Amino acid sequence: MEISLRNQVAVVTGASSGIGSGIAKSLAEAGAVVIVNHSSERSFEEAKAVLKEITEAGGNGITYACDVSKEDQVVKMFQDVVSQFGTVDILVNNAGVQKDAKFTEMTLDQWNTVIGINLTGQFLCAREAIKEFLRRGIDPSRSIACGKIIHISSVHEIIPWAGHANYAASKGAIRMLMQTLAQEYGADKIRVNSICPGAIQTPINKDAWSTSEALSSLLNLIPYNRIGQPKDIGSLAAFLASDLADYITGTSIFVDGGMTTFESFSTGG
Ligand code: NAD
Repeated sequence: MEISLRNQVAVVTGASSGIGSGIAKSLAEAGAVVIVNHSSERSFEEAKAVLKEITEAGGNGITYACDVSKEDQVVKMFQDVVSQFGTVDILVNNAGVQKDAKFTEMTLDQWNTVIGINLTGQFLCAREAIKEFLRRGIDPSRSIACGKIIHISSVHEIIPWAGHANYAASKGAIRMLMQTLAQEYGADKIRVNSICPGAIQTPINKDAWSTSEALSSLLNLIPYNRIGQPKDIGSLAAFLASDLADYITGTSIFVDGGMTTFESFSTGG
């Protein structure tokens, strides 16, 4: 059984780093042309390095600068991708940030930045992707489905997170956005799902793994006793985007080494 995304075009947001780069590489390995989105000129070099790895491994794609929280930039990104590649088949809504603060000290700017990128950014990209899926219609030479959207959520779509109210709120909301889109566009054969990572080793959570003390405290939360890697998420994203997953829509899949089994209950409760 082979995961194939041949003849398909995938937009991966925030693909210049961490989980997004892992997803971009996995989708390219499965044969998709990948748009390696990055937020600004500052992340261009990182995006170029990801694309270089993709092309050296025999894959294909481009880098594309776009701040996903800005409507005009998102609309233009989808227009440009469609004019260059004909359509879009897969959207992976991955870009995300943290701006942590104790709740009573959280500024409106910290709140708005996180909601703007993590939630509004996913709304804007999903809206433009679905418009394009519906315009193109089903093309069996590409996929049984009309289009696929994968939201990158988090274990914090169900685990509350003190000191991170903006982040947890954004991820909780993604669950309802994802399920509503799956319900609204199921009859059009558009599949929409979320991947909920646990602790994956990337720059966003460097403080949680960069010292041996921090890593050992983190591992106390993970029954499988290792930190996740971007490839762990990339493999599932490639499967979910493929026709092998054709009956999967409207669901959140946790990739967390068992974190959501609540390890702290293993010896008590
Ligand atoms: P990361 O910091 O390595 O990557 C974040 C990416 O988002 C970067 O490429 C960054 O340039 C991009 N980005 C930020 N603002 C953007 C904007 N306005 N427009 C476009 N791109 C933008 O972090 P990561 O861990 O790879 O995070 C990726 C996603 O995974 C996020 O949604 C995050 O919430 C989620 N996640 C991560 C973990 C983890 O443990 N690392 C766990 C659960 C969920």
